Amino acid sequence: MAECRRWLRAPDGFFCGMPRVAQGLGRVFLAECGRPGTKLPAVVIVHKDVHKDKHKGMHKDKHKGMHKDVHKGVHKDHARRLTMELQFIGADHEVTGSCHYIQTGSKNILIDCGMRQGSITYENVTLPVSASKIDFVIVTHAHIDHTGMLPKLYKEGFRGQVVATEATADLCDIMLRDSAHIQTMEAEWKNKKGVRNGSEGSVEPIYTMEDAMNLIRLIAPYSYNKIYTLCDGVRFRFTDIGHLLGSASVEIWLTEGRTEKKIVFSGDIGNKDQPLLKDPIKTDEADYVVMESTYGDREHELERGDPIEELADILRDTFARGGNVVIPSFAVGRTQVMLYYLRHIKQNNLLPEYKNFPVYVDSPLAASATEIFVENEEICYDDEALALLHQGINPITFPGLQLTIAAEESKAILEDYNPKVIISASGMCDAGRIKHHLKHNLWRPECTILFVGYQSAGTPGRRILDGAEEIKIFGEEVAVRAKIESMKSLSGHADRTGLLDWIDGFKTKPRQVFVVHGDDKVTTEFAELLNDRGYTAMAPFSGTRYDLATGKFIEITKGVAVSREAKARIVSDSYTKLKLSTKKLEELVANSTGLPNKDLDKFTAELEKLIEKYRR
Ligand SMILES: [Zn+2]
Repeated sequence: MAECRRWLRAPDGFFCGMPRVAQGLGRVFLAECGRPGTKLPAVVIVHKDVHKDKHKGMHKDKHKGMHKDVHKGVHKDHARRLTMELQFIGADHEVTGSCHYIQTGSKNILIDCGMRQGSITYENVTLPVSASKIDFVIVTHAHIDHTGMLPKLYKEGFRGQVVATEATADLCDIMLRDSAHIQTMEAEWKNKKGVRNGSEGSVEPIYTMEDAMNLIRLIAPYSYNKIYTLCDGVRFRFTDIGHLLGSASVEIWLTEGRTEKKIVFSGDIGNKDQPLLKDPIKTDEADYVVMESTYGDREHELERGDPIEELADILRDTFARGGNVVIPSFAVGRTQVMLYYLRHIKQNNLLPEYKNFPVYVDSPLAASATEIFVENEEICYDDEALALLHQGINPITFPGLQLTIAAEESKAILEDYNPKVIISASGMCDAGRIKHHLKHNLWRPECTILFVGYQSAGTPGRRILDGAEEIKIFGEEVAVRAKIESMKSLSGHADRTGLLDWIDGFKTKPRQVFVVHGDDKVTTEFAELLNDRGYTAMAPFSGTRYDLATGKFIEITKGVAVSREAKARIVSDSYTKLKLSTKKLEELVANSTGLPNKDLDKFTAELEKLIEKYRR
């Protein structure tokens, strides 16, 4: 027995081991990893660069009769897969659910594995291979729409490596656990509702905390600006893209034989001059670029004021009325920006009459994220924030800041009527502790509810912002009497000018630009804008396939509008399981060509029987 030490993440955050290299045999891997750290029989799958003769020898002597089918599969893979293919899976003509697939040599790589959030327009194709066949997932940043389905991938059999920057690895640790908690709560809520409705069946969470914890162990942190070899024929480098702590664009070099191609995934491109984060760093050369286009149709400048002055005015007015300023805020990123502004206001004494106003961050996730910001400050902060640090000033903390975590402490804030700032999640008021704070402050005319992030249609946040007179919170109608304010000057995404500035950073125009991660109309129009500027650009729909070796499309798909059933399918775990089984079946059939006719006939007959049974 040998211990599988492949990409095992120790509890202290360091790695115990990497794929082993066996003397004289080229690279060998332990057989199917199973759960990291588990004991496995020392069966080896010989890597493709093993010398032929030795390989042969192994067949005869050591490998005789041992795991024949595993070995066979490897041979077939080598013969079949001499492609460099890119396939678009998610965030195509949509803003969420980022996921792209690359097949090169015998490796299957995903770039992001995000959750779809909010309204969904088009069908996404399923992954072209089963989760257990994915070798690597390269993650551009920790936002759930780029990482949220990783634990599900684990649940479905993924045991490869998740590649991320150091700060992204840290943030994924807390964000994926938080997401698992939300999935579990939602499933419980749906089940309770089902019992009340008398409807049958039980809803399983998309994934559990155990799935998330197991997946987190597969995350491997890498530094910015260094070229790493991922596996034979694949190298990559992360570059800071200034969208979120740890966010990156990723350059990937793919080599097969004498062909080398470089593809760059922009990730979410940050907005310039944001507190704490660096401005997006440009990349200068690539054959292909996959870029986001969230705000490809607008300019922030038109909406921009001085956020610090704006915030100070709101605080002054509210405190003068004797009320609280309640800020519904996304826990990771936006909360830390608000802390930066509040520290600036206090440090520069912009509110002399309310000098010691208390600030509460009432969100366990936001509190943990704030600690991660502090841990990663030297690598990720911009010059301004670093200059503060070097003067001994922590840019996101100050006297009077209280990061509350325990539920009792949260309750104590509700009972304290002295004017203060309360920052809490969720940012759109649809979940989390913010709901308690709204219940206690929304009806008080002396208070202010200050929105600092995007409010999606249908959320309580959007309804309040749109002027609702009453909002239902915990089954109770609460009158909206507080002053409602919104700071429009904050955005984590580059606007149209910022996006163009980034793509114009390439010294020579890439051969092909793929525009993704934007609303339907925005992706199409932004691709047209790029074409007008001399680029070759298009906005692919999910399922579009491109051969990176030859620079030709293999398949161009059209958008398939999401039907009501398909929308239900996205949340239906059972249906997904069924789809995955069909994928396994396909693989099984593809690998059955060498079987005797007698076995093939039996297999076919059994399948036909099954099809008949379930045909309705
Ligand atoms: Zn993002």
